[in-house]
Amino acid sequence: MSGGLTAESWSRIHFLDGPVCDGCGAPFEFDLGARCAACLGKPRAFDAARAACLYDEVSRDPILKLKHADRLDLAPLFARWLSRAARVLIDESDAIAPVPLHPGRLLSRRYNQAAEIARPLSRLTGLSYLPDALVRRRATETQGGKSGSGRRRNVAGAFEVPPARAGQVAGKRILLIDDVMTTGATANACTDALLKAGAKTVRVLTLARVAKEHD
Ligand SMILES: [Zn+2]
Repeated sequence: MSGGLTAESWSRIHFLDGPVCDGCGAPFEFDLGARCAACLGKPRAFDAARAACLYDEVSRDPILKLKHADRLDLAPLFARWLSRAARVLIDESDAIAPVPLHPGRLLSRRYNQAAEIARPLSRLTGLSYLPDALVRRRATETQGGKSGSGRRRNVAGAFEVPPARAGQVAGKRILLIDDVMTTGATANACTDALLKAGAKTVRVLTLARVAKEHD
């Protein structure tokens, strides 16, 4: 099922179905059965992260097209990739929450690509969907071109669970959805906000991730 991708680009997508780091989902060349150096050196707030495919020159194009609304039709296909990539994470979660956009950016772009893949994923998995449990309380600069520590500073404290919605996440095992994971700084900042609101655990599922963190 190509779902609107050409057979040629489909066949070149690098799915992460081999050995990966237990913690962050980075691909291992050999099954080391543990966590990568980055995870051991810098524990994360989230329990585990997985991605469906590698973010590279092949997957970048369809992912950017989703982001810029040219190819919203790809969202259900991407949701299927996520459901296959992370059976265990899904089985260990109660509810799905997308990484939010700042309202200003949502207005200019009209929709949130993370929500576009989270919504069909909740239908596929039967997990409850929490579209607005997390909000971005301040606009952040784009993460592109920033170092790992620059990315962490940029998003630290940028997210919160509004008090009125804390009941949606308290005691729940949350599956956080985003399109691309680079250093994990955004996922970590969202996790901090969810845990602060009483979430039991947070696991992260992204469509794609870079091969190695460049911190
Ligand atoms: Zn790792």
